[in-house]
Order: sequence, then C-alpha cells, then structure tokens
Amino acid sequence: MICATSPQPITPTRMRRESWFAIARKVIVYAISCKTPRRMERGVYFDAWFPRQHCYHPSLPPRRLRMVDELLDYRATALVWSALGGGSLSLPYLEQEAFGAIDPRMRFYGFVNDAEFVAECQRKGIKVFGIVFEVQGWEFGAELSEDEDRVLALNELRGAGAPARLGLTEFTQNRYPRLWKPLEHYFPGGLVNSDGEPVTDLIEECVSRDIHGDALHARWVEVPDNPHECFLMDRNNPVWREYLKAIIRIQIDAGVDGIQLDEAETPLTALQYGGCFCRDCMKGFAAHLGRDGFHYGEWLLEQGYDFKSDLEDTPLFWEYTRYQRGQITRYFGELADYAREYAASQGREVLVSGNFFNVYDQYLPLEPKVDVVITEMRNTTYRQPDWYRYVAGFAGPKPVIVVENPYGGVIPELIEQLGRGRGNDRFRMSLYEAAALGVNMSVPYGSWMGSVIEDAFYAPHELCVEIQSFLADNERVFARATYSEVGVVYSVRSHSELMAKRDAFADNRTNVSAEVRVPFVDACRALSDARQPYDVVFFPDGELRPDTLTVDDLARYRTLVVAGCDDLTEHQRALLRDFPGEIVEMPDLADPQVRVGSDADFAICVHRVPDGAAVHLIRYDYDEAADAVAPLERLELSIRLPQAFSTAEAISPGGDLRAALTVTGQVHRLVLEPVPLYGVVLLRP
Ligand SMILES: [Zn+2]
Repeated sequence: MICATSPQPITPTRMRRESWFAIARKVIVYAISCKTPRRMERGVYFDAWFPRQHCYHPSLPPRRLRMVDELLDYRATALVWSALGGGSLSLPYLEQEAFGAIDPRMRFYGFVNDAEFVAECQRKGIKVFGIVFEVQGWEFGAELSEDEDRVLALNELRGAGAPARLGLTEFTQNRYPRLWKPLEHYFPGGLVNSDGEPVTDLIEECVSRDIHGDALHARWVEVPDNPHECFLMDRNNPVWREYLKAIIRIQIDAGVDGIQLDEAETPLTALQYGGCFCRDCMKGFAAHLGRDGFHYGEWLLEQGYDFKSDLEDTPLFWEYTRYQRGQITRYFGELADYAREYAASQGREVLVSGNFFNVYDQYLPLEPKVDVVITEMRNTTYRQPDWYRYVAGFAGPKPVIVVENPYGGVIPELIEQLGRGRGNDRFRMSLYEAAALGVNMSVPYGSWMGSVIEDAFYAPHELCVEIQSFLADNERVFARATYSEVGVVYSVRSHSELMAKRDAFADNRTNVSAEVRVPFVDACRALSDARQPYDVVFFPDGELRPDTLTVDDLARYRTLVVAGCDDLTEHQRALLRDFPGEIVEMPDLADPQVRVGSDADFAICVHRVPDGAAVHLIRYDYDEAADAVAPLERLELSIRLPQAFSTAEAISPGGDLRAALTVTGQVHRLVLEPVPLYGVVLLRP
C-alpha cells in the first residue's frame, strides 16, 4: 500500500510531463537569449563558398547539416554573410533558397534549404543573419528547357538548352511565368517610381549612374569573362527600398535571427566609379541645397568636371558627400526600423546589423540602429592594434564582429602559407589580436576571396578549434570597458575629410590609401608603438549623430589626446573645458601607464571585467625563418591601475604562462615567464 504522504512514484507519464516542462522552459530561455546579442559574439564569416571555385555573389552554396557540427566545434554564436543572398537575383529565386524542395539525393548528404539551416543553427544556439546585398542588382546567363519551365544551367553555362537571361529585369517584366511567380504576387499594386510612373525594369529604374547617365556596375563582385552583370543599385530610389523590404520580409519568414544590411553606405559606394547622378540623387541634392530644378551633373559638365578625377577640387563635392551622409543615415534607419516592425507584426524579434565597411565615421549616425556592429576591414594586415582600438571605441558597449578583406592586404598570402602548413601563428595572431584589443575577429568558413581568385578561405580546422575553444572557455576575461588612462578623441567634424582624402576615392579592388597624414591616426600609432593601453572616444558631428557624452563619461581618463581636433561642437568644447584631467595635442609619454623592461613588440589592453582587471598581451615578434612567435623567456612590466589588486592568475592558450605580482600603491609589477604569443593575466582584489 502506498501511504498518502509518501512521495509520488515516478511514472513514465509524470517523467514525460516534467521533462516536457523543462524543455519548454529551456526553449523560452533560449528564445530570449537568442534574440539578445551577447557581450562578446564569436562570429563566423560563413559564406561557405566552395574551395577552388569562384566566390559567386549573390547566391551562396546550399547548406549541409555537417556544417552545423563544424560551427559547434568553432563555438560559434553568430554567422555573418551567411544566408539568403538571392534576392538580388529575384524574389522567387530567394524563396527557392529559403523554402525550396531538396531532392532525396541531396538529403543523403544532409543538404537543407536555408530556412531549415537557420532552424538547425538555432537549435544549437547559433544566430544566423540573413544577408541583404543592398547595392547589388544581378543579371545572369542561363539555359532553359524548350517550354521555359526548367532551368538547365545558370551562371555556369553548359550549352544545354535555349540561352536566356535571368535576373531583376526578367522578374520585373514577368518574362518567365512558368519559372517565377509574377511581380504582382509580391507587390500587389505594382511598383511606382518617384515621378509616379509604373516601373517596367528594376535595373533601369534603380541603378546608380555616372555624370553621363551611364549605369554603374559593382565591379568587385563580377567575375571576369563570365557574362553575368552586377549593377550598382541605389537605395535613394524609393522603388529599390520597397524591393529591399520584400527581401527582408522573406528572410524573416524564413526564420533568421538577424538582418544584415550589407553595403550600408549605398550610394556612396558609387563614388569610386564617378556616381551617383541618378534622378533621385539629383532631385534630393537640389532639395538639400534648396535650389529648385538644379541638376548637379549638368552644372558640373558645363564647367568641365566629370566627377571621376579631381574630386577634391570639384565644386560642391564636399556638400554632395554631406548630403549623401544624411541620406544613408535616413534610409539605413528606414530599413532597420522596417525589419523590426515586420518581425513584430509576425510575433517575432530580429536583430539588425549592417556592414560598416572599415568602420568609417559615415556609419556613426547609423550605429544606434544596429544591435551588433559588423564590419569588413579594408586592409587586413598582420598588425593593426590602432584600428582595433578605434573599432572598439566606435561600438561602445555593443558586440563587434570583424571580417577580413581579400583586397589590399595579407589574406591571399596568408592562405597560401596555411595551405603549405605554415603561418599558423600568423593566423592565431589575427584572431587573438582582435580579442586582446576588445573586439571579435571572425573565423573564416569559405569566406570571400574576391571575384578573380578561384578559391574560398578555409583555415585549418584544428587550428580554428584550438583558438575558438580558448576564447569560449575564457569569456570571463573579455570586456569592452577598460582601465585605460588615456582617451584619444576622434572628432568626426575634424577628421572626416582627411580620412576620406586618404581612403575614399580608391577602387575597392585595390583599396589603396593615399599619402594623407591624419593626426588622430598618428596619435594612436604613437601610443600603440609605445605599448600603451588607450581608448578611442568618439565626438560625433552633432547633427546626424547628436552629442550625448557627459563629463562623467570622460572623468575616468587621466589624459585626453585631441590631435587635430580643430572643429568641435559647442557641447564638445564645454566637455573639454570641464574635463578635470590633462588635455594634450599629441600623446605625452613622460609618465606612461605601462612601463616595460625590454624592447619586446606587443600590444596591451586592460579589460575591466567583473572579477577585476584582465591584462591582455598580444605579441608581434613573428620570426619568419622559424615561422613562429617564439615564447619570450621573461617579461617585466608595471601597470598603474586605479585600485590595488592583490592576486594574479595567468591564462594562456597553452597553459604555460606564469605570472608573479608585486603591488606598490597603484603600481602593479608583473613578472611573466614564459610569455607566449597571447596571454592574459587576471588581477583580482
Ligand atoms: Zn543615385
């Protein structure tokens, strides 16, 4: 007999019910956590393009379940450039990517459509961003069956059927009704341009144009000798924004965790090709100037300017870029808001991000609209401490995911080394450097190698696992806040034009920088070279991004460096007037925060973590002959910190770093032996 007060026997039914509740709770907790960016994301640059083949935009290769296993090995939390790119070809094509049927032979190897892939990643706690290529409008060569009801070849042609073109033009014109649903299915009232005319060709309507009215191409994604064409599209055209919103809807319906708006600066993207002079840009610029009927292009041509050379001396050039900076703020914001509103209308939440290319200051007014700062760095090198500190300052408390760039940097050479079993320490440096300096460098997973190189970037699997395991197992030593005594001011009003003169006019297939001195850059380099920790403090333009900094935000710095800050807002002048510390034009290294007893080459950053102070040290002493950063036998350094910490715990990927600490007042003297490529010393009170 069972006593009434005895514990209820566990029956299979009860067990099932309990575990169901437990699972439901986990699902809810997970659903909340999944839609919230983490303090630090571990991003994967997940194009998953094929090895030894062109990286074709905009459609990414089909995904497989095995990829999710590898992403788990990489402890990935977020995938960027990772899904549903095909909207730049047509909306029915994008729906095929999202929901298309997978035939049994493909299932055999775990192929899934993108919606299934997103769901599978979510089950494993990995966020997937849908990629919106905002500037790309595509036309592809194709071969069709006689009845035009089957695609026999697309992009890579094989002489298999009737030659055809497939892309945005054919979609707009309902040219292939047996292949694609009509435009009206997605836009029941059709599309109407800013002159009130019905749109008959999306590309003709929405393309960016040079001063002669010629359509511009996105040359950096077109594969030479392939008949496909990528047109450079313009978000200033309201028709294109309507189209991009339709892409966003399909991506959200497919379940993505986030929307990533690539090429967030369109149509400033067109500057490198002499644009944009499309109808909507001309109307907008005339309104910006308050000159009714003014046509900037015609006005320039009359004076002999073509907007392709001598840009800096071109009349109204800087006013024109100011106008476009306002436009990108407005329309990036419109799309970001739309993504959130549409998700809410479906009972969902989505994250929003973009591609803030190289984190130029033109994106600062866009930053409040994103949850995660995603950036494609312009020139990837083996050593860029000042760039990482700039990016950390730009993002404030938000997580950052950086991806590398194949043009104008070391990536092709690094891949070649990795392919020969060399360069492992170089690769470790590239990920650990970012982590040490406050941001996340993504792991490449078939990432972009440009439009010419027939390969995609995969790093050795075990190497990625090693690095990512260390980063994931030691999350407690990473934070955005620091104990830096020095803040270097980046003033948008003062530095913006110089940065543009240095970088903005070059073709993005070379990414050449002009010889232009930027005092801000010099100040950061001087601090990095002197192995000093520092933060970058952004002073916005005060218009597109209003001032919000207070004296309290700055009071923790002993010194503010204001190199070249000669154009400040009233608010910023008051901040500097009331700042209690020292203000200098260039860094004064007389009384540095960190003193080092050797000439070892490294960067240092002290993260302000819940446990105390995490001293991150990334070394650059790479020995080409040994193909390694050999451990340093011993390194002595002293660091001034605002409070005394009494214990030191050494943390390093190989576990070999040891640390001895002595404290005198605020000065913490550390003896480190041996010092590997990367190490962290966690100081606790
Ligand atoms: Zn335009």
